[in-house]
Amino acid sequence: MAESGVRKMILPARYVQGQGVLNQLGAFVKQHGERPYVVGGRTSFSKVKARVQASLLAANVPMAGYDDTVSECTHAKINEIVQNIEDLDIDVIVACGGGKAVDTGKAVSEKLHVPCITVPTQCATNADGMADAVIFTEDHKFVEDMYLTRPPALVLVDTEVVGRAPPQFIVQGMGDALACAFEKPAYAATQKAKKASDQATTAAIEVNMKCFATLMAHGVQAKKDVDSGKVTEAVEAVIEAIKLQSGFGFGGGGCAAAHAVHNGLTTVPGIARKHGEIVAFGTLVQMVLEKRPMGEIERVMRWCKALGLPTRFQDLGKLDRGSMFGAAEKACDPNDTMSNMPFLVTPKMVLEAMEEVDRLSGSMA
Ligand SMILES: [Zn+2]
Repeated sequence: MAESGVRKMILPARYVQGQGVLNQLGAFVKQHGERPYVVGGRTSFSKVKARVQASLLAANVPMAGYDDTVSECTHAKINEIVQNIEDLDIDVIVACGGGKAVDTGKAVSEKLHVPCITVPTQCATNADGMADAVIFTEDHKFVEDMYLTRPPALVLVDTEVVGRAPPQFIVQGMGDALACAFEKPAYAATQKAKKASDQATTAAIEVNMKCFATLMAHGVQAKKDVDSGKVTEAVEAVIEAIKLQSGFGFGGGGCAAAHAVHNGLTTVPGIARKHGEIVAFGTLVQMVLEKRPMGEIERVMRWCKALGLPTRFQDLGKLDRGSMFGAAEKACDPNDTMSNMPFLVTPKMVLEAMEEVDRLSGSMA
């Protein structure tokens, strides 16, 4: 193997973001096919159904059908949709909704060997731009991360739609995106030290750092604007940070301690927060593990507090504190992404770092 390894980068082929761009859906679909099929969730698709249909019709590529029954991205649901539409000559999939609907649509397009256009309806996830589908069981137990051979042909982000979704979504999206500026460099350093075959690209790390700078500069303002129903420059900047920048360079790896801590904490009875919110807490834990300067940790912690992201145990729910060491052990599972940290992390270190975050936050209140 070459000394310098192989640099990999996977990006969506096209990214379009702005107010009202959903009206261009039909024109974009036409570039890829004539018989679009829409995969969505019931609530999410109902919000945009009329505009999706109108845009497709105006471009002379009417919807060949739709399935809006996705409530979880499961193998069964993916196979069911594929079977239902096998004889419809579908040549492009439009995946419309939150993470589960979008992941389901991408997986369906993979099985049909047709392109996928993703149309997010909220901002809690960057799944729309990724070349994977996270598969769960019917009762939301993680099954596997299914890697796709093709990334989406287009991510169409209408900020009128995404920016007017309930405000908690953009906060969750920011919490998840926060991690990328810490996890990607940790992953890159680890791969470099291991002389591993997969290396991160400099481009991915640079864009992830830009994502962090955008979140710090505009995140709090964006939340205020979304709260008052306004789609401003700050909202646009943050939506790009979440939807494009945080996922930049997928395929060059990425997750490290922040997501591993999330995975551990989800095993604790009483946890009552969403993915991105727990990842934000995990990011603070990673910063402590890395012994970052106190000023840097406090800055991120203040930002989290201003957004209502959890910084204390009590913020995460009525946690069963007796389960915390088990969570720390889970976070250090050799199959989890803690192994992407450039130094050995033990469960004891994770537990102490979580307690340190809780203590620091308490002292700042
Ligand atoms: Zn995440």
